[in-house]
Amino acid sequence: MGVKPHVQTAIYLIWIMLVPAGMWFTYQTFPPHLSGNWHELIAFLALMAIVASMPIIINNVPIFLIQWVSFTVFLIFGLFVEMVFAQIAVLVLLVKLRVPKDQLFRIPLNLIMFFLVSFFSGTFYYLIGGQTAPRLTENSEAFLLAILYAVLNYFINQVIVSFNLFFIYKRKNAYFGKDLLVETLTTIITIPVGVVLYILYNELGLLSLLFVGIPFVSLSVIFNLYYSSEKINQYLQKTGEIGHQMAERLQVDDVVTLFIQKLGGMLPVDYAYVFEVSGDELKLIRYVEEGRVDPYNRPPLKKNEGISGMVWAKQKACFFSRKKEWTHITSGGYLPKDARSILSVPIMRNKMVIGVLLLASKQERAYEKYQLTIVDILCSYFAVAMENAKHYERTKMQSERCSLTKLFNYRYFENALMKEFEQLKRYERDVISLIILDIDHFKTVNDTYGHQSGNEILIDIAGRISKLVGSRGTVARYGGEEFVVLLPDVSKGEAYQTAELIRESIANWPFTLYETIDQDQKKQQVKITASIGVATAPEDAEDALALIRHADRALYVGAKRAGRNRVAEYSSC
Ligand code: GH3
Ligand code: MG
Ligand code: MG
Repeated sequence: MGVKPHVQTAIYLIWIMLVPAGMWFTYQTFPPHLSGNWHELIAFLALMAIVASMPIIINNVPIFLIQWVSFTVFLIFGLFVEMVFAQIAVLVLLVKLRVPKDQLFRIPLNLIMFFLVSFFSGTFYYLIGGQTAPRLTENSEAFLLAILYAVLNYFINQVIVSFNLFFIYKRKNAYFGKDLLVETLTTIITIPVGVVLYILYNELGLLSLLFVGIPFVSLSVIFNLYYSSEKINQYLQKTGEIGHQMAERLQVDDVVTLFIQKLGGMLPVDYAYVFEVSGDELKLIRYVEEGRVDPYNRPPLKKNEGISGMVWAKQKACFFSRKKEWTHITSGGYLPKDARSILSVPIMRNKMVIGVLLLASKQERAYEKYQLTIVDILCSYFAVAMENAKHYERTKMQSERCSLTKLFNYRYFENALMKEFEQLKRYERDVISLIILDIDHFKTVNDTYGHQSGNEILIDIAGRISKLVGSRGTVARYGGEEFVVLLPDVSKGEAYQTAELIRESIANWPFTLYETIDQDQKKQQVKITASIGVATAPEDAEDALALIRHADRALYVGAKRAGRNRVAEYSSC
């Protein structure tokens, strides 16, 4: 809700010009009924302040239950006292609700609104013949006037509130919904209480405040307890749903994304950091700062470094409402300067800390204690979901990659090739090129330097090919010392060029062996060459198997037989 600064200034000015003068006017026109009994005044003021400090909060909307006290005060002491008390009650309520610094204008705004409601309904009451300290039980007309006052008070309040929402907050379809219903209901409930208090006060004096005040205040406490447990239930239900959603995600990245996103939806989060314990460091795996996601570019934290480092070391959640409470422990962390509230929880799995979550808000007191429990539960769901996703990714990797070179394996390649051909058939691809590579005299290399050194060379070659191909194609280990590169939408000419680059990158740069057979400890350099065959569909082959066969044929006939260390493309003649 953005209220422009000049409107805010105007609100302060209006309060200064209107309220003190209005009160003076009221004091002169309708002098208060002060019997000189200050105890009574103070007792009512105390009751008003207590009730004002206990609003019922439903769905984050505070419901102010002050009407019954102000009604009684109005009837006993007159308009002026009611007006002053109402101003004090509003102040108490707003202090209790902890109006954020940038919304302080709400204080004078509410004071003006309450002043106007008091003034108009009170003046009207006197104009229609109402009096201060009426005998409600004996005079039915006085009773009627009192009720009329209450109803009028309610209506003027509605008019002023909707005016305020419309003109100050620019809310269009403003008021006539749930808020109005709640206001109406509370008025219907509280006004009879006010009547009872007034009548009882006339009979019993101050004791009546206890008789009516205690049950009312207790009820409001019970109400609040009920609603906060209701709220926690809703949170728990949401938490369960998020847990299920996270469990369904199979990719680690997706789990983290969902986790952060849902936390942001549930709690006021300006900054969120997810860390993972990795050896003796806390690695930042994701962070969001005011909606911006930036992965992986902050240094890891050590134990006790920053708040997250402390949470990790102590294995205990922490919760701060104000900056003062945590500035002394943030050395080394990277929390922005304008963070105020912090909620940080260790992510546990099998009684071990496997990560840390830190949430921060720019508002003071943004989090409530019970939210710590909710976040803690979410973190356990997160830990399980992460473990599952990691397991899935690992299994997937093992099933589709070669463990030595980390390239895709033959099974994966075959599938990918089939899929490409299906796309070719549907005209979603124009061409598919295939490169097959076989290392020359690799048996000799093995015999000379040992099988282990041969493996080192295979790993190195896999790296060189992958680097050259990049994201243009799929590199796989076809068999022992044979590799394939699948290049969708790459013409035969381009594929030939790529193959030539691969050949050169192998032939022109010797391979370093770290594990030579003769225990010499000295690093050895070996020169290797490879022969390569290229074929392209649909010009060379109509199906996947033919494409492989023809590339293989180019390799053996065109490259190996022609002297090795060369690239040959398939030709049918
Ligand atoms: P050329 O291809 O030039 O005709 O000669 P070559 O010696 O490379 O012959 P071929 O391709 O038939 O031999 C393959 C050799 O590669 C056999 C085996 O010793 C070696 N080899 C296959 N798989 C591996 C492996 O995983 N690690 C190691 N170190 N060697 C392997
Ligand atoms: Mg071979
Ligand atoms: Mg070979």
